[in-house]
Amino acid sequence: MRKRTWTVIIATIGILLLLELSFILWGRSKTTTDAYKISSLHKSITGCEIIPKSFSLSNKTSQQGKNNSDKTSDVSFPSYEETIRAEEDSISVVNNPTSVLVMVNKQRKLPDNYIPPKLVIPNVRFSFNEIVEKRYLREVAAVPLEKMFKQAEEEGYILYGVSGYRSYNRQIAVFKMHEQELGEEKAREVSSVPGSSEHQTGLSIDISSESAKFLLSTEFGSTPEGKWVKENAHKFGFIIRYPEDKTKITGYSFEPWHIRYVGIQHATYLYKHNLALEEAIK
Ligand SMILES: [Zn+2]
Repeated sequence: MRKRTWTVIIATIGILLLLELSFILWGRSKTTTDAYKISSLHKSITGCEIIPKSFSLSNKTSQQGKNNSDKTSDVSFPSYEETIRAEEDSISVVNNPTSVLVMVNKQRKLPDNYIPPKLVIPNVRFSFNEIVEKRYLREVAAVPLEKMFKQAEEEGYILYGVSGYRSYNRQIAVFKMHEQELGEEKAREVSSVPGSSEHQTGLSIDISSESAKFLLSTEFGSTPEGKWVKENAHKFGFIIRYPEDKTKITGYSFEPWHIRYVGIQHATYLYKHNLALEEAIK
């Protein structure tokens, strides 16, 4: 009798272990929905959670842009060709203006009169007091900018916003001003043709510091604040869009003050591999 009781106990434990093992294996099956169902069933019976492998993986992928700055192995960029809609006056017009990975430069411009969605004023210090267009940024970039400025301040570096969003019409005015002063050819060098300014995306902002006299000059890159930005911007999803060693690739001279939001995952990838956006979007 006693022997029979022991056999029953051992057999029950064995069955339970097998059941648990199969739950774990099923819970890690490849299909997200199946794995999730098994995991829920297991939780309802035992009260314990099996994290479905595929579920947690897909979850991780969607959160990478927010939290995980080291996972850069599966970063992908859109291709050059698939993000072009048309050609206008020998400049391509992009078809993904609202994407945080949109690439505009001297060969690629935004659709005329493009206005980005959700422009907001980031709660950061600016080098001026007026509430004007250049104070705005897309919300998707404004929130990370606030975090970056806050972190910089905690480490003793005070950053200032100088120029964020610039509308198509404003860029026309800026370009015309340069054109009248310098002629068309020179104007194209120092300023963007309307539609091809990154500031029109609402994802870029020029920043400076008191040590750089609030100016947008290459000296900002040598200040403690500029150096901090260079080494830390990617952690918040920003890149130095026109690096010193990439002027031939970007078509722009070195602008340590011009940062552009692309998301943490992509910014970290570009930073770690020392790539300009043009080298990733080919
Ligand atoms: Zn700029």
